[in-house]
Amino acid sequence: MRGYESPMRSYNNRIMRQALILLRNMRKQGAVVPFALLSAVALSVGAAESIHTLRGYSSQSSATEVEWERKFRKIPEPERLRENMRRLSARPHHVGSPYDKDNAEWIVAQMKSWGLDARIETFDTLFPTPKERVMELVAPVKYTAKLQEPALAIDPTSNQKSEQLPTYNAYSIDGDVTAPVVYVNYGSPADYEQLERMGVSVSGAIVLARYGLTWRGIKPKVAAEHGAIGCLIYSDPHEDGYRHGDIYPNGPMRPPFGVQRGSVMDMPVYPGDPQTPGVGATPDAKKLPMSEVKTLTKIPVMPISYEDAEPLLKNLSGELVPEAWRGGLPLTYHVGPGPAKVHLRLQFNFDRKPLYDVIVKIPGSKYPDQWVIRGNHHDGWVNGAGDPVSGASPEMEEARGLAELLKQGWKPDRTIIYCFWDGEEPGLLGSTEWAETHAEELKQHAVAYINSDGNGRGFFRAEGSHSLENFTNGVMKDIEDPETKMTVWKRARLAGISKGAGDRKAELKARPDLRIGALGSGSDYTVFIDHLGVASLNIGYGGEDAGGGQYHSIYDDFYWYTHFEDTDFAYGKALAQTGGTIMMRLADCDVLPFQFTNLADTIHTYLGELKKLSIDQRAAIKERNSEIEDGVYVALADPKKKMVPPGKEPLPPYLNFAPLENASDELTRAAAGYEAALTSAGGQASASVNAKLLRSERVLTDSEGLPNRPWFENLIYAPGFYTGYGVKTIPGVREAIEQKRWIEVDHQIARVAKALQSEADLLDEAAKELGGK
Ligand SMILES: [Zn+2]
Repeated sequence: MRGYESPMRSYNNRIMRQALILLRNMRKQGAVVPFALLSAVALSVGAAESIHTLRGYSSQSSATEVEWERKFRKIPEPERLRENMRRLSARPHHVGSPYDKDNAEWIVAQMKSWGLDARIETFDTLFPTPKERVMELVAPVKYTAKLQEPALAIDPTSNQKSEQLPTYNAYSIDGDVTAPVVYVNYGSPADYEQLERMGVSVSGAIVLARYGLTWRGIKPKVAAEHGAIGCLIYSDPHEDGYRHGDIYPNGPMRPPFGVQRGSVMDMPVYPGDPQTPGVGATPDAKKLPMSEVKTLTKIPVMPISYEDAEPLLKNLSGELVPEAWRGGLPLTYHVGPGPAKVHLRLQFNFDRKPLYDVIVKIPGSKYPDQWVIRGNHHDGWVNGAGDPVSGASPEMEEARGLAELLKQGWKPDRTIIYCFWDGEEPGLLGSTEWAETHAEELKQHAVAYINSDGNGRGFFRAEGSHSLENFTNGVMKDIEDPETKMTVWKRARLAGISKGAGDRKAELKARPDLRIGALGSGSDYTVFIDHLGVASLNIGYGGEDAGGGQYHSIYDDFYWYTHFEDTDFAYGKALAQTGGTIMMRLADCDVLPFQFTNLADTIHTYLGELKKLSIDQRAAIKERNSEIEDGVYVALADPKKKMVPPGKEPLPPYLNFAPLENASDELTRAAAGYEAALTSAGGQASASVNAKLLRSERVLTDSEGLPNRPWFENLIYAPGFYTGYGVKTIPGVREAIEQKRWIEVDHQIARVAKALQSEADLLDEAAKELGGK
């Protein structure tokens, strides 16, 4: 019995069961059932039954599972979480450092001491480190950038200078350039359109972009596309500095000299080792020569503090920036170019460094060939207490908890694999190389991949495959929020209602399941969901966090975390409880708990977004063309300011979404049919139904990949080509529209429609088997 059943809920559930019976009768009679009714009914029934019996379990197996899960959730201890963090973040542990290897060996030793089978898998990958970094303002005044984060007396690990990586962006090319500076705001494609309207070119310039909005790797990429010859990225106090709170060490926010290190690899093309795209970086792997590597930047790029950026900004003249471009520094922001002129010289050691992935296996007793996989990275940019140890430490507690249960007689039905990845920070290296090496096995055996990265305080958050949305909601209803003692599901729902507006608020109140977001990129799930089509989730707590002002600096350490973040590790414990419960429930179920009516509903909303995008884009271009004809821009041109009016653009064609609409309806029908068949079968299924369900994310992939980036095979989810971490759903179609490549749209629509039809066919087959049993 779950503790969350309210009288209103069980009333609703009765209504919904009656509605399902009605619906089935209607369908038998050949009636066309409206989409909204179909999905609402199916969604509610899924939720209703999990109240008494876990989805995918018989009443007996459910009772047993619930008992084991309860035992498990009592095991994680905040004190152990704290000690794991102290140990793992005691010294800098980036790729190739002595302590990175030491940590991997320590994790293996811990796992073995608990009786688990753990070992290290090693790969060699390209990992550049700085040899020379110079940034100086040469005109109109001289200033040499410090490029240093000073140790603080109060923070005991901030003085480990000999082991700290300098501040830099990994996978920048070498360069030695001198040029006038242009301030480009966040450096997004829209910012360059604005610059163009202001008559400012970055051709031959060094751009100064602030962190924020887009992923950092996008900034040099778009700058180079516009002819810039160098790129500096600084942390404006508007994003993560004094505007948001006291600065470190008095508070958690970024101090004047704090710098955000980070990768600028072109990961939207392919992540992982730049020299072995698509294959594991094993000793015998063929390596691309450096001249053929596609994921290095095209121009030199370096991150700086706002202390080092301020002299540049102070010495820019030209137009005032648009209001939204103003940062938090006490100066007037101008665009430039110049008179500030910068000399930037960067040289790197382009060495190959070893990675140490820790792989822990608990063999399944019934279905050893079905794998449930969990991962969090262990490498950091420096001491990495928040990123990644606040996630890796709970992951270790999860593994210890499962080891305890094994001693008490618990036997998971499926094989459980715990991974502690190396090399996430530079470019998802450890997870990508491991998964590429084991790609064929993973395609056959992987049930799901569950990721976490850093963890904070606040609300439970999950993004991932929507076939796991209903399952995720079920787990959330069994985890207690450490602060309020309500379930994390209830707390997330109420928070959503308080923040939501209009339709969103109404939907939150009416929809049985909370929606989960889609996955872009930015952590180790990428290769699983985007390349291999393994259903994935990314989980963690946040929203009441300290703010991220330590991110990727030497101050992201034990002192910072234990003073300003989850200081009593209450949410670390909650993450261990959540992750472990997910793993156990996936490993022990009789029928894999994928549920497709939520997936169909989500696809339907994406389709609505795409249609709206196309209509809005057409209307905007039409309106602007008519304003140009009417002389609006001529009338508004201020002769004292430089302003370039936009040119007329061809009107986009009307697009034919019909194949996608038909396929989406087919999926909706098949998903509801599968739900009904599963209910009729009493929630039980044969092994071959599970074999089909295991492929349900795989069929959403296409080995042809996305346009210009074949490594990305999932046709529903991908990181945006121009957003980096930010997701683009139905990316082939969406990006073709956004980037005005309308000629591609028909082909992309056809591919997605085919994938959705394959999913519908798979579900029809599964439903048929359930019925024939
Ligand atoms: Zn991380």
